[in-house]
Amino acid sequence: MSVYAEFHRRSIEDRDAFWAQQAEWITWQTPPQTICDHSQPPFTRWFAGGTTNLCHNAVDRHLAARADQDALIFVSTEVGIEKTYTYRALHDEVQRMAATLQSLGITTGDRVQIYMPMVPEAVFAMLACTRIGAIHSVVFGGFASGSLASRIEDAEPKLIVSADAGSRGGKVIPYKPLLDEAIRLSRHKPAAVLLVDRGLAPMERVAGRDHDYATLRQQHRDAQVPCVWVDATHTSYTLYTSGTTGKPKGVQRDTGGYAVALAASLPHIFMGKPGETFFCTSDIGWVVGHSYIVYGPLIGGMATILYEGLPTRGLDGEANPAIWWSLVEKYKVSVMFSAPTAVRVLKKQDPAALKQHDVSSLKALFLAGEPLDEPTGRWIADALGVPIIDNYWQTETGWPLMTIANGVEKRASKFGSPGVPMYGFDVRLLDEATGEELTEPGRKGVVVVQGPTPPGFMQTVWRDDARFVKTYWQSIPGREVYSTFDWGVRDADGYYFILGRTDDVINVAGHRLGTREIEEAVSSHPNVAEVAVVGVADALKGQVAMAFIVARDAAGLDDAAARLQLEGEVMRVVDGQLGALARPARVLVVNTLPKTRSGKLLRRAIQAVCEQRDTGDLTTMEDPAALEQIRALMAR
Ligand code: ATP
Ligand code: MG
Repeated sequence: MSVYAEFHRRSIEDRDAFWAQQAEWITWQTPPQTICDHSQPPFTRWFAGGTTNLCHNAVDRHLAARADQDALIFVSTEVGIEKTYTYRALHDEVQRMAATLQSLGITTGDRVQIYMPMVPEAVFAMLACTRIGAIHSVVFGGFASGSLASRIEDAEPKLIVSADAGSRGGKVIPYKPLLDEAIRLSRHKPAAVLLVDRGLAPMERVAGRDHDYATLRQQHRDAQVPCVWVDATHTSYTLYTSGTTGKPKGVQRDTGGYAVALAASLPHIFMGKPGETFFCTSDIGWVVGHSYIVYGPLIGGMATILYEGLPTRGLDGEANPAIWWSLVEKYKVSVMFSAPTAVRVLKKQDPAALKQHDVSSLKALFLAGEPLDEPTGRWIADALGVPIIDNYWQTETGWPLMTIANGVEKRASKFGSPGVPMYGFDVRLLDEATGEELTEPGRKGVVVVQGPTPPGFMQTVWRDDARFVKTYWQSIPGREVYSTFDWGVRDADGYYFILGRTDDVINVAGHRLGTREIEEAVSSHPNVAEVAVVGVADALKGQVAMAFIVARDAAGLDDAAARLQLEGEVMRVVDGQLGALARPARVLVVNTLPKTRSGKLLRRAIQAVCEQRDTGDLTTMEDPAALEQIRALMAR
């Protein structure tokens, strides 16, 4: 048995001993009494009876050894700011924020919603909440009033922390009017609003409700706010899923299990060491941001970069496709974490830009959030010259469900595969209809996790245990397993391949085809930068595939003949790789594809437009114009 296979086996079969050992990566006030309590499946309680604190593990415990080391490096190419906080400075700022929260009546168990751009105060607020045992619920700053309002109603915060404005590509986006409107729309009203004024947009204040952070921070400049020791099972935060497939679910997470999962993932998966720098380009509004911008790197004693801005713009506001690599060079980033969607943006730029910087400090680039197609993976691997490590997870899992744990045992990645199940995750492939387990390689099934779920995994759906059980644990007949709602296949070496979501399957003349596989084939055409394939109802065949592509080089494509030629070429590529059955009925060139604000393709919405159906809830959509272009193309 390989070293990793044995490591994984112990995490499942020798669960308590394995995780008791991993629990030593964090600092406990009282050690755990029970390691894994699975007496009420499908609910799993980790490290019950142990008391700890996330903020203590992320900040205070490092003061003795690394008070003067960088902790938080804030870089905003939106407002041209670069500012570094040492662990000591971070400790001071978090206490000022914590004292401010307390002065507004916040105490253990209260909810605090954080609707903020990528500014240091957002991180201070998250850490201040966990410091005093309050439950934070971060809402992505790019959401508009409707999305925010539904999350306010669900989380029922006593306080909302926000700011005057965010900025995107140099354009100021006022937050305060959106927040006021969201509070107006919501049935639940927060008692107080705390506002960080960046001086970007004027704010109207509601007397008695709205408070200015600069003033309160000044009042609490010298505050000392001790960490509140909470039980390991105390809820640290709630966070909503991206809403790619429907109504977002309020994922609820614990304290001790989450801290242990993140602390252990740094050496085992990310190969990050104390004193090094972690650069995660996600947003604090997403789970990746919670785990690897804020808590993970800090728990591991690393410096973390908080980046506000586009990947293609420099600190001077000028176009600069190499800005990220210049930060890697400057801060000697050792671990970088991004998403395929961001790499595709960079891929449209000049690759020479990347070569101007010394990125030799990098050990690896981790990518997550959506399938990493081979052309994108190869392009960035060649450009950077470091291992590209795909990792597959969900808001629900809190940390990677599949990847390669190179810190346990070095193993090659395979293009197109996020790797193997991580320790703690007992992953199976099941037949969707019969619940039968598919053990031979090459068979496609639903990726599920057999409980008990590992530390860091969601506790439940916020205030809705019934939805947790029904949605996730009762979807496969005759089995009580956690469904990821993703298709997967395993090869003879045990590597998994994610084939898309269980609702992204089309049926052409009785043959079931994954839209993901067709997309993979389409994207191997050299002029395809991005692609979305959806199944559209067809009187004759049941469904046909429709492909929407963004060209790498759109020059000449305003000519109909050139578009037709490209369409023909793409069809031939698909024929060659998958056969004529999978060939899209049309391949249409668009400027951009409709995505969620987290960069995931909204196939559901594209399909609805193609079938002239109602698109449903689109509040999480990035760019409505993208859908309009598809509507116009389909109307022709
Ligand atoms: P919702 O659950 O509300 O529909 P969502 O599933 O998009 O939204 P997230 O939790 O942000 O919300 O995304 C998790 C999903 O993203 C996974 O279930 C999977 O479909 C996809 N995903 C994430 N990482 C990868 C990866 N490395 N390879 C393939 N797919 C991935
Ligand atoms: Mg999901």
